[in-house]
Amino acid sequence: MATLFVSDVHLSVERPARAAEFLGFLATDARRADALYLLGDIFDLWLGDDDLPPPHAEVVRAIGAVTRSGVPLYAMHGNHDFLLGEGFARATGCRLLPDPVVVNLYGERVLVSHGDVFCTDDRHYQEWRAFTRNPTAQAVFRTLPMALRRGYAALVRRRARGRTRLKPLEIMDVNPDAVAAAMREYGVRRLIHGHTHRPGVYPVAVDGAGGERVVLGDWYERDSVLAWGPQGYRLCRLPELAEVP
Ligand code: MN
Repeated sequence: MATLFVSDVHLSVERPARAAEFLGFLATDARRADALYLLGDIFDLWLGDDDLPPPHAEVVRAIGAVTRSGVPLYAMHGNHDFLLGEGFARATGCRLLPDPVVVNLYGERVLVSHGDVFCTDDRHYQEWRAFTRNPTAQAVFRTLPMALRRGYAALVRRRARGRTRLKPLEIMDVNPDAVAAAMREYGVRRLIHGHTHRPGVYPVAVDGAGGERVVLGDWYERDSVLAWGPQGYRLCRLPELAEVP
């Protein structure tokens, strides 16, 4: 079919309908894909590869079934599931990708990212991001009992919610200069990312040439998927994948 991209499903026990949709997608369209990229925040919270409350275990099994059916599957960390580790990769057969990374899509080099790395206007968030991606901090956190990890995550979330309410919306979006700089550095004309929950195709000027930023939507109210084929791409809803050649 095409190469499929999904991000920001935010799977949790509180959204069983989305989990059911995502499992349905993994059992059907994902099996026909040339490759599948999970671009972060597939899980609303992932506190280590031993964090397997519903629907995590079922989703891990379903992702594993996709790779076993022969579909190459790649996963990137989001800011909610940055603790996806080697255990997850082994259990699913996926390959964990660095962020950002250049992917060759039918002859075109395209930059792929979760997207939060480009939200540089939010200095406080970038400090938090650097801390959470620190290998030592991660290694220490993984050794804590699950109850402690849960308690810490709940505390962080309460504080983050308070802060997010006070921030102007544009701070939560990508910084255009950070995007253009990365696209210039990697020598690409197109960037695919999620995270901002602002699906669409946005023009990017890179050294006077026209580029594009293709942004995946979240699955809070509805699903969102990007199908990228040899003839072009389509940002669409799950039922529309049936029309993708
Ligand atoms: Mn995110």
